[in-house]
Amino acid sequence: MDSTDFRSLKLCTELLSVVQELGYEKMTPIQQASIPLLLEGKDVLGQAKTGSGKTAAFSLPILNKVNLENQNIQALIICPTRELATQVVTEIRKWGRKFVGLKVLPLIGGQTGRDQAQSLENGVHIAVGTPGRILDHITRDRIDLNDVATVVFDEADKILEMGFEKEIRAIMKELPSKRQTALFSATFPESIQALSKSYQRNPVSVQIADPEGESSSIEQIVYDAHEDEKLNVLMRVLQQHPSKSTIIFCNMKATVNEVVAAIERNDVPCGGLHGDLDQRERDQVMAMFRNGSITLLVATDVAARGLDIDALEMVVNYDLPVQSETYVHRIGRTGRAGRSGISITLANPKDTLKLLELEKLTGGKLLRPSLGYKNQHGLTGMTLPNMQTLSISGGRKDKLRPGDILGALTGTAGLKAADVGKIEVLDKVTYVAIARKAVNQAMDRLRNGKIKGTKYPVRKH
Ligand code: ADP
Ligand code: MG
Repeated sequence: MDSTDFRSLKLCTELLSVVQELGYEKMTPIQQASIPLLLEGKDVLGQAKTGSGKTAAFSLPILNKVNLENQNIQALIICPTRELATQVVTEIRKWGRKFVGLKVLPLIGGQTGRDQAQSLENGVHIAVGTPGRILDHITRDRIDLNDVATVVFDEADKILEMGFEKEIRAIMKELPSKRQTALFSATFPESIQALSKSYQRNPVSVQIADPEGESSSIEQIVYDAHEDEKLNVLMRVLQQHPSKSTIIFCNMKATVNEVVAAIERNDVPCGGLHGDLDQRERDQVMAMFRNGSITLLVATDVAARGLDIDALEMVVNYDLPVQSETYVHRIGRTGRAGRSGISITLANPKDTLKLLELEKLTGGKLLRPSLGYKNQHGLTGMTLPNMQTLSISGGRKDKLRPGDILGALTGTAGLKAADVGKIEVLDKVTYVAIARKAVNQAMDRLRNGKIKGTKYPVRKH
């Protein structure tokens, strides 16, 4: 059998049937190289670029090994950010949906530790968390790690970059010495070797080289902008490069706020992401971006890291990043999976040397066309997104499912199903995208009616 075929793996039938249902045809190179090793119980040191399917590479072997009868944590996945941890939890639940009673718990900040402690008490098979919160549970003696058979560092480069060494050391002390340790990373700085030496045993190294010329499917454009012209130039860029999904990268959170305010002054909805937002605010912005009710996201690098959005059409470097590596990461978020993407950079004349460096690093040509004048009507050249988001103050904890929301909206004399977009049910809140023209009708319906017999507050965003 073809070695890229999932069926060539020694996976249980539940997992293989989920693979088939989800329509995954072939393994990605990192999956092909690392899954068999992990299934054999080896320690793996894996590197492959962002978007190459590393999550499934470690999740499938973990699921394959999990013993649902044992209510103790058997796998611990350590992630640098809560977004990433949430994303990994979602992915594991997706692959594990045929495992009746499987419990996967995120251990992240921005949620109450007490809820998590309660869930830990009730039994958890797989825990996914950020170093700070995991350690917090250890310190409070709320977590039993004695049955952990597999530990994964996801985005290990980022974990180190964010300075979590101390937390990692403390966590690793609590883990059984007989265990499997896997380390996954998009880049491979020296510090990763050191991390591997400290915690892995006879690791097998799996590195997937980027195919040559990969970045050439990304059109890289540079526009000149002095510091005090940047907002103006950005507005012209947004008018002239319409896109259904754009991230605008800024180096500082103050700049994020400034750019968000400037775009909103033009009556275009957008979302800002930076380290000061709480979990609820982040969830909301991300839900709105994913369901298409905002098409512009303004973010710092750290806040954008690990976000699960793979269909970006455009990336704007409002500020040039301090490190050239960061530029490569940013533009790599567009043009994924063979699609073409566009990257636009606002540069100062003093950045010329840096631009040459970026050209060399990406192996692509940086184009410097001239930018037309801004049309007098602000951003009216941009079309408003078709969708708008409603939030309902009820979620998984209230046993709500997407079907309940859809039912409440489309029941007798209600909305047409075609006017209802993505429905995301989180623990305590649900985000639903509604066609702009039907949004008031949907508000009325939800406010005056009940969902599964209960009235929930509803807000329009
Ligand atoms: P990474 O962690 O390497 O950045 P992810 O695990 O987040 O990448 O995967 C990126 C995307 O690719 C996800 O949407 C995931 O569902 C998808 N994916 C994973 N494995 C496969 C596969 N074998 N075939 C097609 N898509 C895949
Ligand atoms: Mg990943």
